[in-house]
Amino acid sequence: MALQFFNSYTRTLEEFTPRNDKTVSFYACGPTVYNYAHIGNLRAYVFEDVLRRTLEYLGYSVTHVMNITDVGHLTDNADEGEDKIVKRSRESGESVWDIARFYTDAFFQDTDRLNIYRPSIACAATEHVDDMIALIKRLEEKGYTYTAGGNVYFDTSKFADYGKMALLDRQEQQAGARVDVDRNKRHPRDFVLWFTQSKFENHIMLWDSPWGRGYPGWHIECSAMSMKYLGEQFDIHCGGIDHIPVHHTNEIAQSEAATGKQWVRYWLHNEFLLVDSGKMSKSKGGFLTLQSLIDEGYDPLDYRYFLLGAHYRTQLRFSFENLKGARSARLSLEDKLKELLSAGESPLDITELTEKSRNYRESFHRDLEADLNTPRALATVWTVLKDKELAAGEVLALLYDFDHVLGLRLSEIETPGKYQLSEEEKTLLEERNAARKEKNFTRADEIRDYFSRKGLVLKDTPDGTVVNPAGV
Ligand code: AMP
Ligand code: ZN
Repeated sequence: MALQFFNSYTRTLEEFTPRNDKTVSFYACGPTVYNYAHIGNLRAYVFEDVLRRTLEYLGYSVTHVMNITDVGHLTDNADEGEDKIVKRSRESGESVWDIARFYTDAFFQDTDRLNIYRPSIACAATEHVDDMIALIKRLEEKGYTYTAGGNVYFDTSKFADYGKMALLDRQEQQAGARVDVDRNKRHPRDFVLWFTQSKFENHIMLWDSPWGRGYPGWHIECSAMSMKYLGEQFDIHCGGIDHIPVHHTNEIAQSEAATGKQWVRYWLHNEFLLVDSGKMSKSKGGFLTLQSLIDEGYDPLDYRYFLLGAHYRTQLRFSFENLKGARSARLSLEDKLKELLSAGESPLDITELTEKSRNYRESFHRDLEADLNTPRALATVWTVLKDKELAAGEVLALLYDFDHVLGLRLSEIETPGKYQLSEEEKTLLEERNAARKEKNFTRADEIRDYFSRKGLVLKDTPDGTVVNPAGV
């Protein structure tokens, strides 16, 4: 079977054929760094990670570019409101640069904890303003822009395919059915490429430009940076489905207007993570962060497992009850693995698998090739674990192989009981044995507590004291 993705642009399942044989150029819209990512946002990044890992697992090499939005994203996607980071700075009294740095670090800390690969290139908008200005100039030379009230706008009426991916109605666009308060716009869906007239005084982040001192719109950054690093045409662009009608629609319009060529071949969008009140969103407040799950006693990988249990194009309802189910499934997967390891088993070489195991591997491939069907891939994992006919070495080989995509850190699980004692710990154990012989149980217990604070359990056996990591 061939690798297939649901392409939002054509609304069909399509075979994936990259522009350049086995190399894939891939852009994903990154975070706006004015706050922590919520677990809905993190669903988007786990999905993109599974996509990238799948491509690499299937033998492609991937250049993965992600932007960091540290300027230009207004509180309303359609050019209304205030820059999110500037607003945060005004409210908290911290500098915009400190806010952006702090939340960028927090973002990568979260993605590391979820075992999400870092992008090949992560690019901050504020470091690419020249590229954005150059792109706006190009659009201006081609007649796609107009200036009104000091801002530079993209004229959507000049771009024939405007709104094709989102199936926006042309009549509705022209008639201005949407209420719009920006009177400078000629058409309701026109959007700002460059702001010079900020509605807010003391807009701190400003750059010189041919149109005056100001700052870029949000959409232009993704076009400028993706084309800088991946070229004017590339393979895959991702984001959450909320980006289809405005952000990605505008990215397509300005990129294709500038180059006169198709920009992106495959558009993949993840569905929402829902909570009882609807879509999880930052603006509603009360959102959950990864840290809040950790504070409730969950491992970040429990959340990763929870997400893998749903197809990326279906809505997924979050609840602690559901997360608990994912945790117990993940822990029993780990337990099975520990069982095999403690029996002294080691993985077979992947080239030495029996036909049955090869078939399981094939079906895991097929699950992923069918538009990244991770729930089915997890089901394949459990079928393998329950198959009594498979040799333990084969099961281990398959699990480690599958984990290249699942990212559950299965190969990091250590053989139980194989804890390596330091010299200091060995001396302490000897001291404890002596203390026990002398019936000095206070000292023996103190030493036991020392180990337990390090997550180690002491077990006294006829052959001596065994040290195990807790939980084994
Ligand atoms: P933002 O930082 O707001 O630009 O969003 C980062 C990513 O998260 C984007 O790809 C959004 O489309 C996506 N996103 C936002 N809310 C949700 C949600 N509730 N569920 C899934 N993805 C989301
Ligand atoms: Zn974007």
